[in-house]
Amino acid sequence: MCRLNSHGDDYETVQNVIVVGAGIWGASLALRLAESGRRVTLIERLDADDPRRASAGETRLVRSAHGTSEFYSQMAWESTREWLALNERVGEQIFLPQGLMWFGREADGWEVRSAEVLKDLDIPCTLLDPAEAALFYPEMRHDDLATVLYEPEAGVVRARRATEVVTGLAQDAGVTLVRGTARPAGRGVVVDGERTGADQVVWACGAWLPGLFHGLPITVTRQDTTHFAADWTGVPAFCDYSGSAYGHGDIDGHGMKITSDVEGEPGFDPESPRGEILAASEQRARDYLARRFPSLAEVPLGLTQVCQYALTPDAEWVVAEIEDGVWVMGGDSGHGFKHAPVLAARLTSVLNGEAAVDPRFGLHPRESARGLRTSGET
Ligand SMILES: Cc1cc2nc3c(=O)[nH]c(=O)nc-3n(C[C@H](O)[C@H](O)[C@H](O)COP(=O)(O)OP(=O)(O)OC[C@H]3O[C@@H](n4cnc5c(N)ncnc54)[C@H](O)[C@@H]3O)c2cc1C
Repeated sequence: MCRLNSHGDDYETVQNVIVVGAGIWGASLALRLAESGRRVTLIERLDADDPRRASAGETRLVRSAHGTSEFYSQMAWESTREWLALNERVGEQIFLPQGLMWFGREADGWEVRSAEVLKDLDIPCTLLDPAEAALFYPEMRHDDLATVLYEPEAGVVRARRATEVVTGLAQDAGVTLVRGTARPAGRGVVVDGERTGADQVVWACGAWLPGLFHGLPITVTRQDTTHFAADWTGVPAFCDYSGSAYGHGDIDGHGMKITSDVEGEPGFDPESPRGEILAASEQRARDYLARRFPSLAEVPLGLTQVCQYALTPDAEWVVAEIEDGVWVMGGDSGHGFKHAPVLAARLTSVLNGEAAVDPRFGLHPRESARGLRTSGET
């Protein structure tokens, strides 16, 4: 384990926060903490492009609509501004503000309730006639739709690249990045048999979190991602809440993404080697293409990825102090990437003693609920 941080200090005497896990949640937190003046060590065990990391996925959607939740809608909107600011800061198109369409099958469904919340919060959105929405795509079947919610400033983030960039910014801000597997040791960690203590430790370990700390309300499910060989570029991303499908046009030549948000089998081991996607996952995506974009139903597969969700029953996250100075941060429930900048900023305030953690993130019993994800189906 490296002894010196980027200031050349012996970190055993100056370090005061350890963040374990350099996915987008841990890396964003490390960056914010360092920018707030804290000394931070960030520990990560896998390579940046290892597909087992949820944040190493190629792309993630950025949208503000969250049903009736003002809390997540506002946080997503603030994060959208942060992703744009990141583009400016590093001079790179990490976030692509291509807009996003919600295909609504009911005249007064989830999409319309979301639109009411967005309008109340002054977040840009419009309800479109389906025929009008169809003009945004080379071809789109819309005879099953009643309305379409359009978020013109939403879009897609290049996820793996974003995670690399944020990790690099964190190092530039003074964070010491340590490569290793950490084990909990009170208010500290053990890496390579050696214990290091800290004032605070944050375990931002994604799907590995329930294996490290038993009793957390987090279930890990397998999720296959599919792209298809279609060169529709620049089209808005889309979500079909009732159809549990989402995707976007071609980005970086990987093809058009069409993926299901239906939860895979629980009990998926995040250590599992990644191979082919399941035939059923391809079929589900093709069935959706046949329904929405029929000319693409038979095109060859493009990029595929096997990843996992870390789901809580109500899709609210877990951010909790489980013992003095020891925090867990996880249960992103498949909708956490976009929120990382603002979640990190808020948790930084909590760790710095300037704010209290929101009780919604606590370890209380949780009712099964939907509405925060992109899927109306379990
Ligand atoms: C298929 C799919 C689609 C998704 N789509 C969207 C979307 O459209 N929009 C959106 O906002 N979100 C989406 N998400 C969710 C998003 O990807 C996650 O919310 C986000 O990546 C979670 O980041 P994380 O840092 O918590 O987890 P991870 O990226 O998994 O990071 C956890 C890290 O901890 C490390 N780690 C674990 N244990 C240890 C240890 N003991 N020692 C050291 N390191 C350790 C791991 O190696 C890993 O790098 C999607 C997720 C999936 C799987």
